[in-house]
Amino acid sequence: MIGVIANGIDQSTVAEFFELFKTLWEFWRPGTRYDVLLCSNSPVPENDASLVLLYGSQRQAFEVSRGIKTRSIRGTGLVTFRDRRMPIYGNFLLFDGQDDKLLLHDGTGAATAVATVSGPQAMIRLGFDLFEEVHHVLTQGQPVELASIPTLELHISLLRQLILSQGVALVEIPPVPAGYRFIVCLTHDIDHPGVRYHKFDHTMFGFLYRAVIGSVIQFCLARRSLRQVAANWKAALSLPLVFAGIVKDFWNQLDRYLKLENELASTFFVIPTKGDAGIDPKGRTNPRRASPYDAAEIADEIKKLLCANREIGVHGIDAWRDSAKGDDERERIQEITGAGDIGVRMHWLYFDSQAPLMLEKAGFGYDSTFGYNETIGYRAGTAQVFKHPNVDHLLELPLHIMDTALFYPSYMNLSDEQAGAAMLPLIENTTGFGGVLTINWHDRSLGPERLWGDTYVTLLGDLRARTPWFATAAQAVSWFRKRRSAVIESVILEGDSVRVKISVDEDKSNLPGLRLRVHKTWSTNDRIRPRPEYAEATFNQSGEIDVTLS
Ligand SMILES: [Zn+2]
Repeated sequence: MIGVIANGIDQSTVAEFFELFKTLWEFWRPGTRYDVLLCSNSPVPENDASLVLLYGSQRQAFEVSRGIKTRSIRGTGLVTFRDRRMPIYGNFLLFDGQDDKLLLHDGTGAATAVATVSGPQAMIRLGFDLFEEVHHVLTQGQPVELASIPTLELHISLLRQLILSQGVALVEIPPVPAGYRFIVCLTHDIDHPGVRYHKFDHTMFGFLYRAVIGSVIQFCLARRSLRQVAANWKAALSLPLVFAGIVKDFWNQLDRYLKLENELASTFFVIPTKGDAGIDPKGRTNPRRASPYDAAEIADEIKKLLCANREIGVHGIDAWRDSAKGDDERERIQEITGAGDIGVRMHWLYFDSQAPLMLEKAGFGYDSTFGYNETIGYRAGTAQVFKHPNVDHLLELPLHIMDTALFYPSYMNLSDEQAGAAMLPLIENTTGFGGVLTINWHDRSLGPERLWGDTYVTLLGDLRARTPWFATAAQAVSWFRKRRSAVIESVILEGDSVRVKISVDEDKSNLPGLRLRVHKTWSTNDRIRPRPEYAEATFNQSGEIDVTLS
């Protein structure tokens, strides 16, 4: 059991951190014995814990009493932990003259953490505020240049390693569904369901330019094949026939998505109103954001997707800033789908600190907007579904990979091959840490002139080979809700076996089960072992679970 003392920080941040690192913990109560005492910005009370962790960016009694010199660093810095770089966004301390190699500051090579052992108790002093870091990434998010780092997973991983390296028993419910290695959410924002909605507007002229001239330039740069140039020219020439309704609209790619994804689950976000550009986070209006279609016009297509077991969500315009408008946007889609619970992703990813509250008030069950337009990666530093600080029920399914970020010349501007290589570390992170990889491939991206289908097919093949659970956004969120409802009530060690009492509120046996992971503790002289070993059992409901360690 971990006892936590956190001063000067909202206790809900601490609770949210332990929803992501789901282990046995509580706020410290005087007189209780804890295996691990975690103090954040706080004096250490009388205790007999095996391990005391002292987080904090202010000078503490620990270094004062030992005569350790410290330096305070202001603003974002990078530290290295187990060969992985991790940003610290708040102020932090460097401990001069210490040869601890646990956490090293990138700029100076100085230690950012110090360990000491006295008698049966180990103390580790870390020079930053864990929960302020957690609060920062979940609310402000990470800047684009650090997007590739799953910072929250690294904080969890560091804490887990510190506990295991002291030989303390650890039980957790990892963010990995039973029977699978991780979760994948394939999603599609429906921004342009047909080129026929764009007669003589800027989108049509943009398409003609990119298809006819842009593809030739791309061909000269070896970024397009001759086959792709021909496909784009053919599409441009066929435009009058598409407008006349004689040939198929090449921007309507929903059938092709169903064919490519076949048995896999996916989610489509549909725009509820047309001609409304909404207002951006700076209070301005960009007319180009207005949709030329609304959900009612593609009701037949929506029903077809529902028949194929796809999920339909709201691709919102103003819901993020106005709950009454959000209510209206939600109802417009629910009238067509008949679904009870429904989620949302904002068009152009408009969002601010009040957005979660507005979306919750508007009646949405989850949001999947928290990601980047410009790049791929971890805006919230995590691949786990999480809860924003100011809401009760709404959960956030973070967005990680968006096709337009990979390919737009003004964003990452990658070739097909480069895009595959850029996505690989994210796939590998999710395989290693668990959680969910959320991908957004826009509706028209398979058609001319984008022709981003080859990359998508390769991505699907790579993902399928890793046996994840392909879930709709709503299913993934429900699974995390089930995990959040699970409570580890007690852990009793009996020889070679561990008996864990668990309660689970949410009765969702239609979803994959949860895993109970019991780490076989390390001996302290064996710290360099690369992977901790553990035993697992799976469960779906409340009860006592026995896990054998041998
Ligand atoms: Zn959109």
